[in-house]
Parts: sequence; C-alpha cells; structure tokens
Amino acid sequence: MSTTSNIAHSTTPPFSPLAPFDDPGADVILRSSDGTDFHVYRVVLSLASPFFKEMFGLPQPPFEPEVPTLPMAESAVVLDRMLRFWYPGAQPIAIPTLDELRDTFESLIVRYDMQFIVPFAKRQLREYVQEHPVAVFAIACRHEWKDLAREAAKSSLSVPIHDVCDSPRPSHLNDMTADTYHSLLRYHSRCARVARVPTSTLEWINRSDETPGANCTERGDYSCPFDDRTWDYANAPGRPLVGWFAGHLKRLNTTLANSPLVRLDSPEVLTLAIKQMAACPFCKTNGFERLAKFTVALKAKIDRDIDSVELELNF
Ligand SMILES: [Zn+2]
Repeated sequence: MSTTSNIAHSTTPPFSPLAPFDDPGADVILRSSDGTDFHVYRVVLSLASPFFKEMFGLPQPPFEPEVPTLPMAESAVVLDRMLRFWYPGAQPIAIPTLDELRDTFESLIVRYDMQFIVPFAKRQLREYVQEHPVAVFAIACRHEWKDLAREAAKSSLSVPIHDVCDSPRPSHLNDMTADTYHSLLRYHSRCARVARVPTSTLEWINRSDETPGANCTERGDYSCPFDDRTWDYANAPGRPLVGWFAGHLKRLNTTLANSPLVRLDSPEVLTLAIKQMAACPFCKTNGFERLAKFTVALKAKIDRDIDSVELELNF
C-alpha cells in the first residue's frame, strides 16, 4: 500500500510535510506512526541525537535500500513539531498547549537524548510558569531541572495549592512522584507559615506618622473603632491599631495561609480596608497612600522571608 493511501486514512486533513522535509536528495526517511514520510539527512540526525548516531553507526543489512525508512513512534503532527525545533532550515511552529509541549520535549530529550534542547525547552516552559505553575513544576521535576522547579514552585505560591485537590485530576500529576508532590506541599506550608508572621505582629516595621491609621490613634479621641488588642512595632511595643487596618491584617493572615504570594495590591485584597478607611474623616485623608506604602513594605518583607525557605528536592 502506498504512503499516500496510509495518510488519507489516518489524518484529517492529510498532513504533508513542507520544506525542508520534502528534500528528494535526503538519505533517510522518517515515517510517522500515521504514515507520513519526512525526508531528512542522517548526518543532521546524528549530530543532534546520540540515539540516531548509534543507530546509523550500526552495520546496515545488505538488502538495505539506498534511502532507508525508519518507522517512528510519533504522529506526523508531533514529528513535524519535534523536527522544527532544531532541524536546519526549518521554521519552528508554535505548540498550542502545555501538555503538547511536555510530550514534545519528552520525546526529544528522553527518547532521542537531544540534551541541547534543554535550555530552549526551559525557556518555552517558563512562559507557562505564571498560568500553570504546578504543571511546570511537575515537568521540571520529571526532567530533574532544579532551577525551573524552584521558579515554578515559587510561582505556585500565588495560588491556593489545595485548589489542585478540588479540580479534576490534572494529567501533569503523572509527572510527579508522591515524594515530589509532598515536597511541593511542604514548601507551600513552610512558606505560608513565614508569610503570615508579618501580618500577626508588626515587630518587623517601625511605627511612624506614616503608619496606617496613625491619624486616629494619635488623636486620643478615636474616630475609628480600634482593635481589641495592642500591637508591637519594632520601635513601639503595645500600641493601638485602628480597626480597619487590624481587620485587613487578619484577613491577609488567612489568605496567606493558602496563597503565601497572593497579590497584596489586588482589589480583592484591598477593597474592604479602603471602604472602611473611607468612613473615617481622619484616616481617609491619607489612609490610601499609607496603606499602599505599607503594602509595598509587606510585600518586600514576605518576598525576602520566602526566599529563605528551601524547596527540598530529592534529585
Ligand atoms: Zn480613622
């Protein structure tokens, strides 16, 4: 049966490889699992892949045709993407999903041992770190890339880790061992503990006229309701705190337990405090600026402290 008829029955629409994989002068044909032929050069494959180098170095059977055909495990679409990442003269094409990107790199790096792809693979995966940090973490651990695993783990701190448990089982969990997943959960837990500290005490910051709510607490006849406990600052123990600011810190404390690197300046986080602040004639005059300044300092503090938490990986 001809290759053409195979293609007609196996792909919709039929896949036809474009240049440079249609070169009639090529000396080997890679036949995809669905019957499409890619005409390529052995020397190029050998330079890129120890797998092919070893294969072409083996003694060839005497009846071997001048241009041998190698059956490949990948479909035509996947094989085309794989080759276009690195084959001379080929234009790379975008891979639409993270799962497909993962599968492509799995073939290139694990099956065909193309280690030179690794820096490129990491760059591609980094584009997904913000949107799919846990999936990128899983892929990085699969390949034992500590640098990318750390970046992805840190990025995952901005979302509640337990959301993973509430959604359908994602395919990338297959890339993680139970030990690796435990490392990620443990990292989240330790980072959450660290991130919550500066919202339960203010001992990490000096009290000043710039402190949110200081207008009220210094007046003596508070306009704002104030918190039912006193708070310690680095330079001033046992000071009162206006209720809207104390409430903001307590809500943050709860949020940071699930998302240690949640965006502290997002409307979801700030809106209630701003509304309550605006009800006070004294606080509202400069409360927003002070709260914004405090938020910047808090973010820097949490970032610093989380950087000191080690992600324990056993590879
Ligand atoms: Zn006030």
